[in-house]
Amino acid sequence: MRFGLLLLLLFSPSLLAERHYYERGEQRLVIDLSERLPDSKRDDVLGWIRDTADAMASVQGRWPRDEWRVKVIPYNTRGSDPVPWAQVNRGDPDVVSFYIDPRASRERLSNNWTAYHEFAHLLIPYRGWGDMWFSEGFASYYQNLLQARTGVFDETEMWQRLHDGFIRGRTNRRPDLSLAQLSPTMRENRSYMRVYWTGAWYWFRADTELRRRSNGEQSLDTALAALNRCCADSAMSARDIAIELDRLTGQLLFVPLFDQVAASRALPPFEEQFAELGIELENGAVSLRNTYPLAGIREAIARRESPHGP
Ligand SMILES: [Zn+2]
Repeated sequence: MRFGLLLLLLFSPSLLAERHYYERGEQRLVIDLSERLPDSKRDDVLGWIRDTADAMASVQGRWPRDEWRVKVIPYNTRGSDPVPWAQVNRGDPDVVSFYIDPRASRERLSNNWTAYHEFAHLLIPYRGWGDMWFSEGFASYYQNLLQARTGVFDETEMWQRLHDGFIRGRTNRRPDLSLAQLSPTMRENRSYMRVYWTGAWYWFRADTELRRRSNGEQSLDTALAALNRCCADSAMSARDIAIELDRLTGQLLFVPLFDQVAASRALPPFEEQFAELGIELENGAVSLRNTYPLAGIREAIARRESPHGP
């Protein structure tokens, strides 16, 4: 792993930037820092991007694609959010743009969830059409795993955040609509929470069930690594990805769960699965018990490991 630094001014109408390279073996992340970013912030920003990129590489032992790009642009804000806006553009290469508060410290950047969320999007070869619940749910689930695995917070806090998300996802303004119907209209229906968190529930269920069926031999991490090996450069729909994940894992899991969730009219119950995993709830507060049969699965979800080689 090498953190190359090449100073280069790029002249384009939209972005005058200083270009940096961060390399992992044969893979390369291009980081363009807007020239409007204060000199004193550049090391902080580069460190933050590099650390989050490392966290994302730990899922599959590598980045999903060999070349990808990040842009960082200062954004003057009165709010307290260090990253008020970010977006992912899937293409060749994939580009993640961050608009950051130039006053934000390295610590505030590193403890913010946004970069984990945006980078998590890149872990599946979804190219952004249809079934937003699938992709947003994926990023909402994995952003919490990545933060726990990197030490931003501990395992208890990870389950607390997933729990709180599922509770928010129960706010249901349109119980008459299935998730498949609600997903493309979530803006008009102000139903972001149900769409995002029912999607996160899908990945939580798939991950725990895959680990349980395979006695921990398989997980969403290993399934994604296999998906990346076959299909990183393809443009797949959400259901195509579910079909491929069933084929790669030898399970009948991702597709039946996909159809169940797409037809759902509310976020499905999670309390029973939490109990099996040794996650106890009291007045909405999570505590962990290690004596439960599936507690090992629960711990493994929050643990950073890189079993797939560099
Ligand atoms: Zn997202």
